[in-house]
Amino acid sequence: MTEAHVRPGKLLIGGQELDAKSGETLDTVNPATGARLTTLARGSAVDVDDAVRSARVGFEAWTKLGHAERARILWKVGELMMAKLEELAVLETLDTGKPIAASRLVDVPRSADTFFYFSGWATKLHGETIPVRGPFLNYTVREPLGVIGAIIPWNFPLLLGTRKVAAALAAGNSVVLKPPEQASLACLELGKLLLEAGAPPGVLNVVTGLGEEAGAALVEHPGVDKISFTGGTATGKRIMRAAASTLKRVSLELGGKSANIIFADANLDVAIPAAVRAVFYNQGELCTAGTRLLVERSIHERVLEGVVAGAKALKVGDPLDPSTQMGPLITAEHRAMVERYIASGEQEGATRVSGAKRAEPGFFVEPTVFAAVSEQMTIAREEIFGPVLSVIPFDGVDEAARIADATEFGLAAGVWTRDVGRAHSLASRLRAGTVWINTYNLFDAASPYGGYKQSGFGRENGAEVLQELTQSKSVWVSLAT
Ligand code: NAD
Repeated sequence: MTEAHVRPGKLLIGGQELDAKSGETLDTVNPATGARLTTLARGSAVDVDDAVRSARVGFEAWTKLGHAERARILWKVGELMMAKLEELAVLETLDTGKPIAASRLVDVPRSADTFFYFSGWATKLHGETIPVRGPFLNYTVREPLGVIGAIIPWNFPLLLGTRKVAAALAAGNSVVLKPPEQASLACLELGKLLLEAGAPPGVLNVVTGLGEEAGAALVEHPGVDKISFTGGTATGKRIMRAAASTLKRVSLELGGKSANIIFADANLDVAIPAAVRAVFYNQGELCTAGTRLLVERSIHERVLEGVVAGAKALKVGDPLDPSTQMGPLITAEHRAMVERYIASGEQEGATRVSGAKRAEPGFFVEPTVFAAVSEQMTIAREEIFGPVLSVIPFDGVDEAARIADATEFGLAAGVWTRDVGRAHSLASRLRAGTVWINTYNLFDAASPYGGYKQSGFGRENGAEVLQELTQSKSVWVSLAT
């Protein structure tokens, strides 16, 4: 697989690869070179309408197959992903700019794991028998919702697309997936893998296009039973408003501004390199990035020195080089936004200790560390979604908890301490959907994941997501003869 093998992205509707009805296309760019990678069909409302109709047909066919066969197909998708690991990894790296080592070790294998995990659930969703008054048998069945509209961002297209698709299909639904316009190619491959594994046409449809066109049409479509969205908080709010007109269910996985808190008694040999990875993994284009490093004052200088050294040592460059640790940002516009945040940090009085330089061609920005950051500064409050770390000193556990909570987000947090009691009590105080203790950025298809506060609601992964992708029906039977 090389850049020359990348084919134009078409819509995938009812098992067919199609152009948009309008015939229009969008360019998709290789972030490492800034050059056009290929084109994508620019799907719009008419294409979304076709995809939703196809998903309804797919839903009926998927239902008829039965649980065991659905489980077999989902497992097969995981196997196909592993068989095509190298091809998928290169495609994802060309499309997003993420280091190939990460695509090979994380994005593709974790996507396959997600299919293996949810394959198991396809045969294990059941209701209950409930004791009720009178001569009646009452039982519940868990039924799928129908057609799920899945909308995802560009930072982990294959993995985030997989999370939504594998869970929705295991619960018996069909899906229309709207991939990110900046990086749609791996999601189109996901659609083809489903067909290759034996899923009936229409079980997974993929409509490429812009958010305000294809995405908005999916949210408004009356034939869609739920929108499962991952993306920015501002978009999440728009989607929630738009979903009101059809009273659609929504689940929202949104932005973050996570605090990674290091106490003086922590094992700093582990905590410091982990703090570097926590924020700079995937170029900082990570919703759970530990962008606010809260450091107990007595070890502040040592930790600052360590993270700056760690940031400077990161190898930034060609994402296809296996030794690269940080690739380019996704687009020129996104880089410009990250650079505006860096400028705001300087203007508002933080001290930039490293980074900020760009490299071209491509959309590279060096890993950047700010010291003397106060919690009121823009870089300490707003999500940057790039390689920018703010180091913030604190005195004592109460102040750490207060600063950690001082943003509108509540996606994740890290706590580094050898004091077990303090670790658990802080884990309970932090208003975040995930708390890591003496580790950071661990995920598993089995463990529920989602936000508190304006980081969204609803959970992905684990058994919890299946409750949100099904509904229970209560059936009453008279036992009177
Ligand atoms: P975005 O919100 O701009 O776009 C996400 C998706 O929504 C894209 O597919 C886009 O086309 C679509 N979209 C945009 N406007 C829409 C509309 N009006 N109606 C329907 N769909 C629309 O986000 P982004 O810039 O692609 O991604 C970055 C954001 O995603 C960050 O805020 C990041 O924190 C968040 N994110 C969250 C998680 C999580 O699990 N919580 C994971 C990854 C990324």
